[in-house]
Amino acid sequence: MPSHRQLFLNHLAQTSDAPLMLEMVSAEGIYMTDVDDKKYLDLISGIGVSNVGHRHPKVIKAIKDQVDKHLHVMVYGEFVQSPQVRLAEALSKTLPNKIDSVYLVNSGSEAIEGAMKLAKRYTGRSELVACHNAYHGSSHGALSLTGSESFKRNYRPLLPGVSHVRFGCIDDLNKITSETAAFVIETVQGEAGLKVGSQDYWKAVRDRCSLTGALLILDEIQCGFGRTGKFWAFEHYGIEPDIIVSAKGMGGGMPIGSFMASKELMHVFTENPVLGHISTFGGHPVSSAAALATLEVIQEEDLLDNVAEKELLFHTLLKHPKIKAIRSKGLMMAVEFESYDVLKPIIDRAIELGVVTDWFLFNDQSMRIAPPLIITKDEIKKACKIILQAINDV
Ligand code: PMP
Repeated sequence: MPSHRQLFLNHLAQTSDAPLMLEMVSAEGIYMTDVDDKKYLDLISGIGVSNVGHRHPKVIKAIKDQVDKHLHVMVYGEFVQSPQVRLAEALSKTLPNKIDSVYLVNSGSEAIEGAMKLAKRYTGRSELVACHNAYHGSSHGALSLTGSESFKRNYRPLLPGVSHVRFGCIDDLNKITSETAAFVIETVQGEAGLKVGSQDYWKAVRDRCSLTGALLILDEIQCGFGRTGKFWAFEHYGIEPDIIVSAKGMGGGMPIGSFMASKELMHVFTENPVLGHISTFGGHPVSSAAALATLEVIQEEDLLDNVAEKELLFHTLLKHPKIKAIRSKGLMMAVEFESYDVLKPIIDRAIELGVVTDWFLFNDQSMRIAPPLIITKDEIKKACKIILQAINDV
């Protein structure tokens, strides 16, 4: 009988020639356990997903309760399904009053696709502006927005009319014009290796979009659902988007995504023609039940309260001559080393020592740290000790 590792290599389509190939058989809280019963502390939440930890009991209960009632019964948008409508209401309550309509989909890329279509349809414009080093997903539309030429080169032609600006640069905002349907931007840039805009930048972004009539689409797929210490990262900046996009951490470990806007905007999908955006599985009842439980866990267990303290603890503990810088917003962190060649053996050694981290798509000399928000201070101390040991060992 071939081993699972052989089956993985023989039959599962590969995305790199050096996959991590850990074989987990269970996961609970901040830990994952492999086939040899070795425990790993998950410092990246598989990536940016397990914000409430693996298999949170309330999420598991919601999933089981829903499985006992029904799975798929109808395509999105036709039947009244209690997990979907209760989730939509709960999401609306976390958002500014004007954002009261939620379109449920299955993933981040899909949510971005929906948001792009919504902006084009509502404004009647076709141009889009995004940021260099942005990551918005792997489907063709989302890839068109992605700000890395090497990822796009082999897939042209992509969407026409997409231009890119430097994240954080106020002067570049002039590229947003009265021809622009939307400016699509991550509230905290993730795969760029953690980039955070200033308060002034965000005010300028909002002002420029309002002035030109371009919609502001915030991609909070990685930085939303509590990751930065606020439920939504835009709350740090005192601005409001026109459309906000969520996925990853939203499902508490189940696949789900959403794009959210005002009812007035969303209305355009219902007419001329009807069914302007449709999905078979969007807002699957089991995923929706899990997402509602996840949202409630974040609120009821006050998971946001000590994110800033935990962030500071990482900064205090991770001191080493080989660490060049630490960038962070809440528990979304990048620890920078001199190069990938310096970092990769450290990541490998940390995994041997039982701590899982990785690097960023567009910043491979920085270690990603994005643990479940439930991580305790003692667990942070333990994780940092292991990272420092890994640095010293290699
Ligand atoms: N936007 C951002 C900011 C992301 O981090 C990701 C996933 N890494 C996506 C979009 C795409 O999400 P998905 O992989 O669920 O399609």
